[in-house]
Amino acid sequence: MTYQVLITGANRGIGLEFTQQYAQDGWNVLACCRDPQHAGALQALAKVHANIRILHLDVADFAQIDALALQLKNEKVDVLINNAGVYPESSLGDADTNDWLDAFKINSIAPLKMATAFTAHIANSELKKIATLSSKMGSMSDNTSGGSYIYRSTKTAVNMVMKSLSIDVQAAGIAVVTLHPGWVQTDMGGSNALIDTKTSVAGLRKVIEELNLSNTGKFIAYDGKEIAW
Ligand code: NDP
Repeated sequence: MTYQVLITGANRGIGLEFTQQYAQDGWNVLACCRDPQHAGALQALAKVHANIRILHLDVADFAQIDALALQLKNEKVDVLINNAGVYPESSLGDADTNDWLDAFKINSIAPLKMATAFTAHIANSELKKIATLSSKMGSMSDNTSGGSYIYRSTKTAVNMVMKSLSIDVQAAGIAVVTLHPGWVQTDMGGSNALIDTKTSVAGLRKVIEELNLSNTGKFIAYDGKEIAW
């Protein structure tokens, strides 16, 4: 059985590493990115792995999400990974409203748009899983340092969105997990981050592998530990 995974923001960082690891393991990878022409690292990876298909998708453009779902209507998606995300800087007195609305669109609303547009593809698949990259920074319980209004609130929002989704798609046999990847060395995480993408993604893939209807609707870190909302 060959499984198929769809990954958003697959051109760099954590998304690129997901693409590499799943392709290496023989999965078919639908690697989505908003600028395939300039996705050099992903293009190079696809040259080595014939099971990677690069697809154009800006997740902030909901019409594009629907169009892609239609284009792939005869295909199954075993695992949907909502990975694309943005981190606009913000602090008390300095949180740009447009940045905030854009971040909500990308970090909070797009994951649900993806899940709804691809529900049939996922429900028809063997594994039936949706995984969304959130962040511990979206955890109420973990917030002891304040700040980062935009990023934190968009990740808190996606946590709730995914919780509701987990309940609503349970009858279709689809399991949902919200993920914290750790503090990871990427453009977003920066070079001081604690772990590399390889370690993070290996852990996240294990969490996704262990996801099923009995543990759906949880918020889990790359090391398998559950995170308090
Ligand atoms: P990067 O900044 O390295 O990469 C972000 C990815 O998201 C890029 O591929 C980017 O594409 C893509 N993206 C952004 N906006 C859009 C859009 N509108 N449409 C399609 N793709 C888009 O981030 P990471 O790899 O570090 O993060 C991946 C996920 O993990 C994010 O959701 C992030 O919030 C989360 N996370 C990361 C942590 C870390 O320490 N790194 C910690 C906690 C959570 P493009 O190249 O076109 O900009």
